Amino acid sequence: MRTVTVVGASLSGLYTARELRAQGFDGRLVIVGDEPHRPYDRPPLSKDFLTGRADEDDLALTDPEETGRLDAEWLLGVRARGLDPRSRTVLLDDGRTVSTDGVVIATGAAARRLPGDGLAGVHTLRTLDDARALRAELTRGPRQVVVIGGGFIGAETASSCAALGHHVTVVEAAPLPLVPQLGAEMAAVCAALHRRGGVDLVTGTGVAGLHGTVAVTGVELADGRVLAADVVIVGIGATPSTAWLAGSTLALHDGVLCDDGCVTALPQVVAVGDVARVGGNRAEHWTSATEQPRVAVANLLAGRTLEAVRSVPYFWSDQYGARIQFAGRRRDGDTVRVTEGELADGAPGESGFLARYERDGHTVAVLSVDHPRPFTRARRELERAQSEGKRAQPAAS
Ligand SMILES: Cc1cc2nc3c(=O)[nH]c(=O)nc-3n(C[C@H](O)[C@H](O)[C@H](O)COP(=O)(O)OP(=O)(O)OC[C@H]3O[C@@H](n4cnc5c(N)ncnc54)[C@H](O)[C@@H]3O)c2cc1C
Repeated sequence: MRTVTVVGASLSGLYTARELRAQGFDGRLVIVGDEPHRPYDRPPLSKDFLTGRADEDDLALTDPEETGRLDAEWLLGVRARGLDPRSRTVLLDDGRTVSTDGVVIATGAAARRLPGDGLAGVHTLRTLDDARALRAELTRGPRQVVVIGGGFIGAETASSCAALGHHVTVVEAAPLPLVPQLGAEMAAVCAALHRRGGVDLVTGTGVAGLHGTVAVTGVELADGRVLAADVVIVGIGATPSTAWLAGSTLALHDGVLCDDGCVTALPQVVAVGDVARVGGNRAEHWTSATEQPRVAVANLLAGRTLEAVRSVPYFWSDQYGARIQFAGRRRDGDTVRVTEGELADGAPGESGFLARYERDGHTVAVLSVDHPRPFTRARRELERAQSEGKRAQPAAS
């Protein structure tokens, strides 16, 4: 393979470039990114960057010394608009084409939007430019902030806005936030965190529309109520960035369909990170985006799937001074038990807690709030059990 093109100057794109060099690829390496920036870390955008505890320099994922060693051609600020497998080219928005033997799709996901969200004061939070704009807005004195969506990004952003002294309301269409991710019992814990952080949580009603002519003035709920707002943050999830692959012959369905080794139907094309549906699962987690590249590169360089991604899904979230960590795969019907620490009236105690999700008498997932050491042990158990092809044993009651 003489040329490999990584599309997406992203977290997973950078990790893939590192792996290509580490695994001996010494050909031409091209990295295409539509943002003007070198890869940066997104998790702090809703946390320390928004509150001003981290700056842009703290977000950088690479430095000139490393980029020198990677010896890649960086094509930044230009969007890939097509992939033609017959001519083996990546087509760019500015009319250029890149001839390539291998392609890594690392285009991540883009924030979902609401109709009418072009009003001043309405924000999404996915990119550094989004975060800069929101941060600037939040420094202009006390604001009435409405966060639409109680998922992780919504909750973290609400927490940061509250920490900055703004009045914050979170609107969530479901009866509780984060039920798909955590299940109803543990979602109640997140609702308690909002309350503890002094944030109003409005659940069970969607958003009918935004009020305002030039700038947003309010959020109209499906039940007719109108919440006054001068800042609105739309946190209603993200859509995998696959539009540019229409016509490429690749199977696209909520992501780029890959086997469990990140290989698409075309053996010279692999996908990693938020955009990749690997073995039927798509994760929007930092850890998946950093673990998949090693396997994807091994398979890409081999020209076939030699290895599968075997890791146990993991993510964390920081909100209202609490660290939430989750590992494994839960589903409705699992039994949830707090096995360490304390959960009193749905709120975590001072020293946090660890909960296990159990199915057929085995632990299939673990969640902790401010209980990092027991969590790490339980996560390792899950990983060990998975690598031995069995499930982790339940903890003694
Ligand atoms: C605000 C925020 C907070 C987060 N916090 C956490 C957390 O606490 N814990 C956790 O586990 N995860 C967190 N995540 C998720 C984590 O950051 C993502 O899983 C990770 O960034 C995914 O990396 P990626 O490489 O797949 O893609 P991305 O980071 O989405 O990058 C993809 C890049 O590709 C570019 N691109 C898209 N289309 C094209 C195209 N056609 N041509 C060229 N370039 C293109 C995009 O503009 C982008 O620069 C957070 C995400 C956000 C946004």
